[in-house]
Amino acid sequence: MNDEITPAVIADPLDAKVNRLQSYYRSGATRSIAFRKGQLHKLRNAIHQYEPQLLAALKQDLNKSELEAYSTEIGLVLKEIRVALSRVRRWAKPKRVRTPLSHFGASSQIVPEPLGTTLIIGPWNYPIYLMLAPVVAAIAAGNTMMLKPSEMAPATSRVLAALIGEVFRPEFVALIEGGADVTTELLKQPFDHFFFTGSPQVGRIVMEAAAKKLIPVTLELGGKSPCIVHKDANIELAARRIVFGKLTNAGQTCVAPDYLIVHKAVKQQLLSKMASVVEDFYGKEPILNPAYGKIVNERHFHRLVSYLHDDNVGHVAYGGQIDEAACKIAPTFLEGVSLQARVMQEEIFGPIMPFIEYEQTEDIYATVQASPKPLALYVFSGSPEFQQEIIGRIPFGGGCINDTIMHLATSYLPFGGIGTSGIGSYHGEHGFKAFSHYKGILKQSNLFDIPFRYPTSKWGLAIIRKLLR
Ligand code: NAD
Repeated sequence: MNDEITPAVIADPLDAKVNRLQSYYRSGATRSIAFRKGQLHKLRNAIHQYEPQLLAALKQDLNKSELEAYSTEIGLVLKEIRVALSRVRRWAKPKRVRTPLSHFGASSQIVPEPLGTTLIIGPWNYPIYLMLAPVVAAIAAGNTMMLKPSEMAPATSRVLAALIGEVFRPEFVALIEGGADVTTELLKQPFDHFFFTGSPQVGRIVMEAAAKKLIPVTLELGGKSPCIVHKDANIELAARRIVFGKLTNAGQTCVAPDYLIVHKAVKQQLLSKMASVVEDFYGKEPILNPAYGKIVNERHFHRLVSYLHDDNVGHVAYGGQIDEAACKIAPTFLEGVSLQARVMQEEIFGPIMPFIEYEQTEDIYATVQASPKPLALYVFSGSPEFQQEIIGRIPFGGGCINDTIMHLATSYLPFGGIGTSGIGSYHGEHGFKAFSHYKGILKQSNLFDIPFRYPTSKWGLAIIRKLLR
């Protein structure tokens, strides 16, 4: 199927493709709920049909095990489809709202409308989920769309191109493969919305291009997500949940706990528990375990290894082994790290975990607020007051109390960042909202015409003064 589609894709100039997407949107074909649901059903069937190829591509690009590939990618897309199918009619329904007395005779409603033709750009770390979850939302909201998967997960990009080409007509959903050069050209096109998932650095490029044409954006970015462990936490459980969140996809998860801020009284206990959890999950030598993820490419591998040779990095308390040929880095815990070390200045995006100690709660704020507002934050504590204090004081995209990363895997919570970690949010109804414009419509009656707003009205000002207090 891919062979039939690719030559046409290459021969077709970009503006003609975007033009076709726009004309199809303007024809109104994508608006009916029946059409939206029909397309979501088709996508679901295609995912089932392509499951073996998708799993194989994830294995090739990122060495994802079947459990990880299904639970963090394919299954999550299917769940978004299921929720959208059962709720899209309700989401798309105009909602009546109150009308003030000053508008007597009128009724008011909020009418969701698709944004139009949208560009969706994906990253490499969850190349299926982060490409297709926005597609589910965009279809549910009635848009047409152009997709650009990441060139850094090439096997997955190829399978996605084949799947999309087989399941959708190209005037409804088109997909273009390629890297920064292709994205640069796409960002010049007159889309109605950019939905970008990736780094804050490229997020800036996307937003600059959007600013030139006043195109609205959703930016799903990254940053340093702290994980706070208080002295009253359940250390046994915290260790399992932190190791799980950090080592899923070998730490290459936008919401992975980036570094630990742990109370001095429990630091050693947490460190040794986390080390035994690593061995429980992946054995004594995780880099030899076929189910342990690899680093996506050599550039990222060398970036991560270079953190370990930095001047201010403290010392390796656990792990530190590397396998260059396999692009694998063992789970590595660092102690005595200075906040000036590069590992504390940049998003780590790998299986390295700095342990930063604190004694006073104020020290937590100083550490977290040394970096821009994070995408996620995790707090482990038995005390509701402490949990509330942290959640209430620190700005961040979203997070968990006594868990890590699981807030991402629900369709009922908005998922997105704040400031440099992102603009806007999605998942479930929040995704529908991200791809919709909400029109406010006032419908006035023709049966009568109250004259007090007109310049001829004698008592107009007095009445308006009363109504608009
Ligand atoms: P990236 O920004 O390098 O790439 C993302 C996309 O942008 C790719 O499709 C790529 O082809 C394109 N791109 C790269 N350079 C470009 C350029 N100069 N001009 C135009 N387009 C360009 O991000 P990545 O390395 O794929 O992903 C890692 C980053 O993404 C991390 O910061 C991570 O936290 C973040 N992320 C965020 C989320 C989220 O949901 N918030 C999810 C996954 C990853």
